[in-house]
Amino acid sequence: MEGEQFRSAAREMADYISNYLENIRERRVLPTVEPGYLRPLIPAEAPETPESWQDVMKDIERVIMPGVTHWHSPQFHAYYPTANSYPALLADMLSGAIGCIGFTWIASPACTELEVVMMDWLGQLLGLPGEFLAASGGTGGGVIQGTASEATLVAMLSAKSRKVSELKEKGKAAQDIVTQLVAYASDQAHSSVERAGMLAGVEMRKVPSDEQFGMRGPQLRKAVEEDLKKGFIPFYVVGTLGATPACSFDNLREIGEVALQFGMWHHVDAAYAGSALICEEFRYLMDGIELADSFNFNPHKWLLVNFDCSAMWFKNCNDVVDAFNVDPLYLKHDQQGQMPDYRHWQIPLGRRFRSLKLWFVMRLYGKKLLQEFIRKQVSLAHQFEDYVKDNPLFELILPVTLGLVCFRLKKSNEANEALLKAINAGGVIHLVPAKIKDVFFLRFAVCSRFTESHDVEKAWMEVKKQTDIVLSKE
Ligand SMILES: *Cc1c(COP(=O)(O)O)cnc(C)c1O
Repeated sequence: MEGEQFRSAAREMADYISNYLENIRERRVLPTVEPGYLRPLIPAEAPETPESWQDVMKDIERVIMPGVTHWHSPQFHAYYPTANSYPALLADMLSGAIGCIGFTWIASPACTELEVVMMDWLGQLLGLPGEFLAASGGTGGGVIQGTASEATLVAMLSAKSRKVSELKEKGKAAQDIVTQLVAYASDQAHSSVERAGMLAGVEMRKVPSDEQFGMRGPQLRKAVEEDLKKGFIPFYVVGTLGATPACSFDNLREIGEVALQFGMWHHVDAAYAGSALICEEFRYLMDGIELADSFNFNPHKWLLVNFDCSAMWFKNCNDVVDAFNVDPLYLKHDQQGQMPDYRHWQIPLGRRFRSLKLWFVMRLYGKKLLQEFIRKQVSLAHQFEDYVKDNPLFELILPVTLGLVCFRLKKSNEANEALLKAINAGGVIHLVPAKIKDVFFLRFAVCSRFTESHDVEKAWMEVKKQTDIVLSKE
């Protein structure tokens, strides 16, 4: 394909994408294909000679779309949202075209420098304390990771390295330290936190959450003190804002105080909920954030930036650079030290020009429209919450804070499992469940940026219809 052909194919693709997204409401949200559906639809081997673009284009509807779960359908209410917007799609095109690998400043100065400034813009939008921002001139700064899971692991490895050097200076042998390290998170923390512990080779403790499913200081302190008595070395704690099962919130101030007292690194995982902090009325949720060492959220979840874009800030970026720095000659350059070499801030070497997505989205929406977007989605969740409250057959698991409604039939787990199954088989909407302390419930997340009030009403009608069917079979 040459330039002229690309121009016309790109126009055609832009039309296809706009039509797909603008008419996504008409597609069945969950596909009906069976495992193995795709292989028979295409040849067994790559073609010998070039095919035409038209043939490729035709196969999108024939081969791909029947097997797509439409995450941007206004009837998609599963998991948490994943973001999608035209400005971010455009930025991804440009990023692909520039196609640089920005591991050091000199490997593409614009890639590093835009990221430094965008992470400051974004941090300011959220109201993060100045210590986390590069513009403050201190040791703080932000970086774009691929996912929240990586951010949790990067912070954990930095904390591990910081603790090991601290204790080595006091004369303790490195191998003794490593086997005694222990990390903490709430029993509501994301599975990626437990996984980070496995990957880092350290013990993890799940701290019991309270009746609002949040982790509090006293429970954390108790777990830490028990471990200290047994000779363990507490070094890392993850506080969660907007935990995945029920969008519950840990008490960051209490956790931060315990972390300070015992010399632990405090990382905050706000993967979903972080986007809401652009609205002043939700900032109370991060009270105590100034005590944390690192903070992370996913603009690719709820801030209109397509996957992948996970924003992470350090209060002292030397911690991660010291932990991750290796310096082969071929990566050295004359300007080292004046700007970040982001390869020291992440696990891979290579990195894409992802800050373009943040730049385009923040400029083309502006703070005002981004806030309107979040507020509208929260109000749609409250609309669904009101339907649940007004119906005596149902109960809420937690009051709604952001865009997730957790609810169940006031009946057995089995009845709720049957309801969930019937809803997903119906194909009108898509939900996933969760379970806390042996209580099975349904999660209704406002996901698509196309979701309107009438979609929420339609979803509730479907829940009621399937409830009638399930209850009539009891
Ligand atoms: C979604 C989510 C994650 C995982 O996010 P990735 O970016 O896919 O790794 C981690 N923590 C919380 C609280 C989440 O909601």
